[in-house]
Amino acid sequence: SKFKNGLAKTRNSFTSKINDLVARYRTVDEDFFEELEEVLISADVGVSAVMEIIEELEMEVKRQNIKDTKQVKEVISEKLVELYYGNDNQQNIEELKQNPEGLTVYLIVGVNGVGKTTTIGKLAHQLQSEGKKVTLAAGDTFRAGAIEQLDEWGKRANVHVVKHTEGSDPAAVIYDGIQSAKSRKSDVLICDTAGRLQNKVNLMNELSKVKRVIEREIPGAPHEVLLVLDATTGQNAMSQAKTFSESTDVSGIVLTKLDGTAKGGIVLAIRNELEIPVKLVGLGEKVTDLETFDANAFVYGLFA
Ligand code: GDP
Repeated sequence: SKFKNGLAKTRNSFTSKINDLVARYRTVDEDFFEELEEVLISADVGVSAVMEIIEELEMEVKRQNIKDTKQVKEVISEKLVELYYGNDNQQNIEELKQNPEGLTVYLIVGVNGVGKTTTIGKLAHQLQSEGKKVTLAAGDTFRAGAIEQLDEWGKRANVHVVKHTEGSDPAAVIYDGIQSAKSRKSDVLICDTAGRLQNKVNLMNELSKVKRVIEREIPGAPHEVLLVLDATTGQNAMSQAKTFSESTDVSGIVLTKLDGTAKGGIVLAIRNELEIPVKLVGLGEKVTDLETFDANAFVYGLFA
């Protein structure tokens, strides 16, 4: 139900448009598909993804000889779930990977303002609630106030934060974070990083330096490189995702502020376009507003 509440904006807009469409058209025809196409595009599902869906819908409608627009709703939701999973028939919810042999390390990347710090705080809280011991490393030494902000979240979630001063070497902070997490016998270390996109070469260098430190200290780590994206920025988020995935191996996406947009369709297009799963979604500003992404529950929530 939290999933449903968090998606109220997308649901209200999307569902009412679909229902309106279904009510106005008694039979499925060209015009129906054209309007449906507009509804999907306005929900930020992505133009190429929408084209694909419409084409498949048309085929499915022909194959099943569907005439009634109400019946089409069912097929639309099926296609939306398929859009997310692509050729993956398993349709598994993707939980965060863990290190079975010791310290699990998550590296969090993303540009300023997307909700990176908030997400780290929420994730720390979630892991703590599961009984895990968490340490945070304040690796964003670039943005003014980033260290203090992470420290605040650390206090709120009651987790230890390893920090240096502003402007110091992020790789050194992460190194200390690892040593501290080990000596404190933490289960999980969450590493913040600076999100400068202006200079792709710098970004790449900084991320790979941090990654090298982690890989050297803990074989098999980082267990996740999570890219935080703001759902309200639509295609901008998509282009950030492209830049970051070209700079480092992103293993999962955290899509924040899904509660603040009517264009939640982007969550479905991301995996399809980038082949990176959405692992977590942010559904509000509170510490508990972080959920594992479930495409079925998401799509079902839209039509419920
Ligand atoms: P950072 O610069 O990437 O670290 O971004 P912050 O964590 O400081 O977040 C920027 C703003 O977005 C803050 O006002 C957060 O409260 C807000 N925010 C973060 N995640 C969410 C979310 O899932 N939903 C909503 N509504 N706001 C969020």
